[in-house]
Amino acid sequence: MHRQTTAVVAMDGPAGAGKSTVARRVAQAFGFTLLDTGALYRTVALAALRAAVDWADVAAMSRFAEALVARRGVEIEPSEASGMRVRLDGEDVGEAIRTPEISMGASQVSAIPGVRAALLDLQRDFVRLGRARGVVCEGRDIGTVVFPEADLKVFLTASVDARADRRHRELAGKGSDVTFESTRAEVAQRDAQDEGRSIAPLRRAADAALVDSTGLDLDAVVAAIVELVRARLPAAAEGAR
Ligand code: C5P
Repeated sequence: MHRQTTAVVAMDGPAGAGKSTVARRVAQAFGFTLLDTGALYRTVALAALRAAVDWADVAAMSRFAEALVARRGVEIEPSEASGMRVRLDGEDVGEAIRTPEISMGASQVSAIPGVRAALLDLQRDFVRLGRARGVVCEGRDIGTVVFPEADLKVFLTASVDARADRRHRELAGKGSDVTFESTRAEVAQRDAQDEGRSIAPLRRAADAALVDSTGLDLDAVVAAIVELVRARLPAAAEGAR
C-alpha cells in the first residue's frame, strides 16, 4: 500500500475547468508544492513530436516514454514563478507544451498504458522524495489511480461552454487567433478521449468533493477549496502559519 508522509490534495477534472490556476493558488496559500501531471503527458507528447515518434503508434510510444523517463529526460522541480518547472533534456519546456497541438497529443499519448506506467513512479517519487509538508497534485486520475489515499480529493468541473470560453480567452491572451468554435471542439474532443479511454479514464472518485466552477470566478473557487483543505488537513494547513 502506498503511504504518504506528505499531505496530498488530489485535484482532478476535465480540460479548462481552471484546475492549473486553482491548484497553483491553493498550493501557494499553504506553502505546498504543486504537481501538474498534465505537464508530464504534454512533455512526453512534445518529446515524441521532436523525435518523430508517431503519437498513434502504441508500441513505439510505450518504448519511447519508458526510455525517456529511464534516462531522466523529463525532470520536474518546484518553481517560485509557475509552481512547477518541467524540463525536457534540460530545456525548460513550460511554454512549448502549452499549444493546442500538444494538448491533443498529450490526450492521445495519455491513453497508452505504457506511457501512463512510465510516468507513474515519476509522480509518486516527486511526492515521496520531495519532503514537502503538502502537495497539490492536479490531473485526471490522481484521486483514482496515482494517489487513491490522498488526504483530500477535489473534482473540479464546469460546463463545456464555460471551459471552452476560459481556454479560448487564455489562448487569445497569448496572441493566438483560434476561434471559440475550434477551442470548444478541442475541449469536447479531449473530454471524450479522456473519459472514454479504457485505462485511468477521467472520472470523479467516489470520495471526491465536487466543485463546479461554472459561473464562479477563480477567487471563489480557490476560497472554497482553501476551506476544504483547512477543514480536512488542519495540521498541514496550520503549518503554513
Ligand atoms: O491538464 P492538461 O490539460 O495539461 O492535460 C493534458 C492531457 O494530459 C489531458 O487531456 C489528459 O489526456 C492527459 N492527462 C492524463 N492524466 C493526468 C493528467 C493529464 O491523462 N493525470
